Amino acid sequence: MDRGVLLIVCGPSGVGKTSLGQRLLSANEELTLSVSYTTRPRRGQEVDGQAYHFVDEERFKEMRDREAFAEWAEVHGNFYGTPTAAIEEAWRDGLDVLFDIDYQGAKQLKDRYPEATAVLVTPPDMKTLASRLRGRGTDSEEVIQARLAKARHELAQYELFDFIVENGEFERAVQVMQSIYTAARHARHVRAEWLEELLS
Ligand code: 5GP
Repeated sequence: MDRGVLLIVCGPSGVGKTSLGQRLLSANEELTLSVSYTTRPRRGQEVDGQAYHFVDEERFKEMRDREAFAEWAEVHGNFYGTPTAAIEEAWRDGLDVLFDIDYQGAKQLKDRYPEATAVLVTPPDMKTLASRLRGRGTDSEEVIQARLAKARHELAQYELFDFIVENGEFERAVQVMQSIYTAARHARHVRAEWLEELLS
């Protein structure tokens, strides 16, 4: 099976990684989103099967135990997992896969697929992240401080990543992400089969 690009996008909550991912997906039709399974309750307008497959804990554990996940982790008290079958299906269809997952998942995917491209999205500075978190809604100062401490912990895992993208000016960050993805499509392991064909 040809192996496409695996593009992992990570970053603390409020940093804008989901918006960056959405821009990449809409600009690149050969890129598809990995839809995770989660036990977290559905929020607002979320549709089952779009951002997530929503399952109960029993179903999640059953999938985990039969090793249906390429990675899984507990995040904020809920389980999240990436189905291996979806990666294989995407590759069969000649597609690349984008993952919006946390750093624990990024580590597991890099162990399993060392050629995956892992990107850490950072805020330009911690003050900006704090004001973005404050602007998001009605969280208490205590909750915001806890989120900031968690963000620091996540950013401190930077050695897991191949690229660090600062999301200060959004359009600039989109350009950088696109450049990374474009370069990843030209990596040797992605182009090797094509080159073998050229030679034959
Ligand atoms: P949310 O519930 O707010 O959509 O996501 C919470 C966190 O879980 C985010 O950091 C998100 O990237 C992460 N996440 C979503 N899906 C997965 C997954 O399949 N595996 C892992 N490890 N993290 C995930």
